[in-house]
Amino acid sequence: MRREAALARAAAVRLRFGRLLRAWYRSHHRDLPWRRTRDPYRILVSELMLQQTQVARVALKYGTFLERFPTLDAVARARPARVMEAWSGLGYYARAKNLHRLARTVAATGRPAILPDDAAALRSLPGIGPYTAGAVASFAFEQREALVDTNVARVVRRVIAPELDTTRGSDRQTVWAVARALLPRTGRATYVHNQALMELGALICTARVRHCARCPVRPVCATVEGDRP
Ligand code: SF4
Repeated sequence: MRREAALARAAAVRLRFGRLLRAWYRSHHRDLPWRRTRDPYRILVSELMLQQTQVARVALKYGTFLERFPTLDAVARARPARVMEAWSGLGYYARAKNLHRLARTVAATGRPAILPDDAAALRSLPGIGPYTAGAVASFAFEQREALVDTNVARVVRRVIAPELDTTRGSDRQTVWAVARALLPRTGRATYVHNQALMELGALICTARVRHCARCPVRPVCATVEGDRP
């Protein structure tokens, strides 16, 4: 019942929500290095780095890591210890290990090592979960794929279905279903839509404070209110 109600609300506000969100993103988004590329490998590296590390720290390390390892093949050819070394300062080294395993897995399928463009194939690779698969598919390949991380889940829940409890597995599945129901029609618009959802969660509808007074999706939000912690 909660799922049906959430999906019905998503269908009712989808067009307006998407237009408001994407228009805001076009004039307010941050210029971040990984938004200047559509190279799947570079996008994957940024997504892995951003999983557990703050944007400012990733921005400092991203360029130097890519200078040392400009391609997936370069990672595949390197010893794991060299990849760990280049990852230093970012923490959570399991991500670097997974990147190395992934690079060797993809390189074993042919040269040059090329990431697949489809979310299901991406999900089958080491260290790639549903969020990262959606991010690489939509940001690098403009596929019409949803992505849900903590920020996106919070925004989707507040805008569409505040009754959902994202600590429950079934409600988390509903959030994914709602995120898919909100997608625009084209892959090209999906790129902007997904970037914008993440940007809204990072800058406006944050875990600590809701800046409802200056929120672009205020007109369609189910939990709009004055700014408060
Ligand atoms: S109106 Fe408020 S609660 Fe709704 S998405 Fe915007 S900041 Fe979040």
